[in-house]
Amino acid sequence: MVVPCSTYRGRLAPSPTGYLHLGHARTFWIAGQRARAAHGELLLRNDDLDALRFHLDFVDAMLEDLRWLGFTWREPMISQSARLPRYRAALEKLHAAGAIFPCTRSRRDVLEAIGAPHEGGADDEPIYPPQFRPPAGAPLPPLGEKISTNWRFRVPDGEDTAFIDTRCGPQHAIAGRDFGDFLVWRKDDVPSYQLSCAVDDAELGITEVVRGADLIKSTFRQLRLIRALGHVAPAYHHCALMNDDRGERLAKRHDALALRTLRERGIRPEEIIAQFISAEHADGRG
Ligand code: GLU
Repeated sequence: MVVPCSTYRGRLAPSPTGYLHLGHARTFWIAGQRARAAHGELLLRNDDLDALRFHLDFVDAMLEDLRWLGFTWREPMISQSARLPRYRAALEKLHAAGAIFPCTRSRRDVLEAIGAPHEGGADDEPIYPPQFRPPAGAPLPPLGEKISTNWRFRVPDGEDTAFIDTRCGPQHAIAGRDFGDFLVWRKDDVPSYQLSCAVDDAELGITEVVRGADLIKSTFRQLRLIRALGHVAPAYHHCALMNDDRGERLAKRHDALALRTLRERGIRPEEIIAQFISAEHADGRG
């Protein structure tokens, strides 16, 4: 059989900060199905920059769980910790373009300035107060070899950022209203998720990003970065999130639904996949 040549390249991007659960597996399964349908390939990206929560055992566990479920990917796995010079080069480019600024405000300062009573969810970053920004065009301090200040991306206020999600349809957000100046580099000298993810998706030639719908807001930020860095953006497919039987979102704390717990209970990978197939039919959109 002649397999048509495809340029589709997707990725699985787990963070080794806990055991993979059913929700991850379902998103990865959809990513795998889409790559297969397009006769494309999948990369495995190990998002291991979060040194505080990252644990080497979770990398082994993640590989074991993915293999158990039958996933394959183009070897070798790509670890973000090995790509720090790429993120630093991107930061320097943003710095040279005046697209970022140093920020010494704490999260608490930000919350107080906007009168927010408490913190939102992980992807619900408060809008950075414009009065905290340095004036546009003001000369920037050098980055320095070792970074000890937070750096934020200055969003173009009032500009629309739009994309057509291959599952959810047209999406748009106004910079400065729906999302504010966001972190690109942390004061502990680590790139933010937004920067590392945008750089990797663009530089590794990912043609479609498949991930959970909780990351749609991040997509607007990453599109801004990809554009500022002069790259071509991939397509995006945000999957429905899985809830447990009490209607609560699956998270890593739901240990009972960790893939290894299911495996220990004697559940077979085929049963898990069968569940995804029926959920896909119920969702009707994949
Ligand atoms: N490692 C990130 C996560 O697990 C990746 C998100 C993404 O797919 O961009 O949330």
